[in-house]
Amino acid sequence: MHSVSDDARETIDGVLAYARSRALFADVPLDKPVTPDELAAVASGSITAGGIGSQAATTLFADVLAPTCLSIDHPGYLSFIPSAPSKAAIAFDLVVSASAIYGGSWMEGAGAVFAENEVLHWLAAEFGLPVGAGGVFVQGGTIGNLSALVAARDASRRRNAELGRTNPDRWKVVCSSEAHSSIASATEVMDVDIVAVRTGADGRLHGNAVVAALDEHGDSVFAVVVTGGTTNFGIVDDIASVAAVTKARDIWLHVDGAYGLAAMLVERMRPTFAGVELADSVIVDPHKWLFAPFDACALIYRDPSHGRAAHTQKAEYLDTLTDRPDWNPSDLAIQLTRRARGLPLWFSLATHGTDQYRASIDHGIALAREIADEIERRDGLSLVRDPQLSVVVFRREGWSMAEYQAWSDRLLDDQVGFVVPSSHAGEPVLRFAIVNPTTTMELLTEILDTLA
Ligand SMILES: *Cc1c(COP(=O)(O)O)cnc(C)c1O
Repeated sequence: MHSVSDDARETIDGVLAYARSRALFADVPLDKPVTPDELAAVASGSITAGGIGSQAATTLFADVLAPTCLSIDHPGYLSFIPSAPSKAAIAFDLVVSASAIYGGSWMEGAGAVFAENEVLHWLAAEFGLPVGAGGVFVQGGTIGNLSALVAARDASRRRNAELGRTNPDRWKVVCSSEAHSSIASATEVMDVDIVAVRTGADGRLHGNAVVAALDEHGDSVFAVVVTGGTTNFGIVDDIASVAAVTKARDIWLHVDGAYGLAAMLVERMRPTFAGVELADSVIVDPHKWLFAPFDACALIYRDPSHGRAAHTQKAEYLDTLTDRPDWNPSDLAIQLTRRARGLPLWFSLATHGTDQYRASIDHGIALAREIADEIERRDGLSLVRDPQLSVVVFRREGWSMAEYQAWSDRLLDDQVGFVVPSSHAGEPVLRFAIVNPTTTMELLTEILDTLA
């Protein structure tokens, strides 16, 4: 399995040929899932004592398994938050696998860690964070949010210890009622309470609502989470007004920008995110709107020493790593062994330059605006809310959830698009989440036509 043999060459050439063809498909098939029974009937039995050989395994994947996996990079994939990795990022993901790099420590992965830091520092500067801000690429926004909140609680505990104050019986996190489900998940894991504050009529969390929550819950609050682009609507909280409150009260401000913070790379969108520069921690997912393959979340601390204090694992077998003043990415989040998962983004950014990133993100914002205007013009369709970023939520007048679902199934059967119904305040709605630069106005209007 490990020797450099003709067999190994054949395996690698075969797999690379498949990867090459998949990455260069002119028309990516959307594909669709089947039931476990259907797959069992055609795909069972691949694990044998003697092996089926790389050709048979590749063929099984290419012809049977892959067609039952949705292509998230299809231009008609508009559900949840899509992913649309650049060709350069896809190609370099293969290099990361081939290079056997341990991305957890400087000692083992210096050059990879350096390149990842180039990207993290660039992002930090774009978000207005000071020199010295830094972080780590973790698996996804869920782990990024959890790691940031663990660091925030640890900072509160340490400060209480310094000041001789007692810790509260129950720690609390304040966020908006529209915050992502991963915040509730993080508070579950941490066994802390969540204070969900109602958003204003504009759907955004404002400072005055946070003041009321802090007055009520006092010193038990160790962090306030604002969302830089909600998942369902792409709404950006009033970060500046919340930041003014957290700063005045010396409370950790975390910005969950998993989906939306990438929009800050577009110059005219920067005012929307005012206040991010005051954050103690931020996350943004490159696998969402920064055109990197799964899975990567950039977690950035204003002062990385907080991340390190909370997350550095200590053991005799790690002393040789942790006794040095090195920059060790593992120390900044919940993880030890880590893939250098920021490298595909680094390579693509280095290859193309930041201007193309800004333009490609702007495509989604501009297209969302354009299709929103088209929806407003059409009889029987109406916007639920004006898009702020690249999520467009709208209704087809008079349809029940069952009718939406039947339409959605048909759209996938016809391999035109993947648009699942969502709901808002109990009302079934449709939702386009646009991040893919190959998604066009023509395709979106074609999808609207099927709603007539
Ligand atoms: C997607 C998302 C997350 C979770 O990120 P994962 O990478 O899926 O774990 C968190 N917050 C927001 C706002 C998101 O859109």
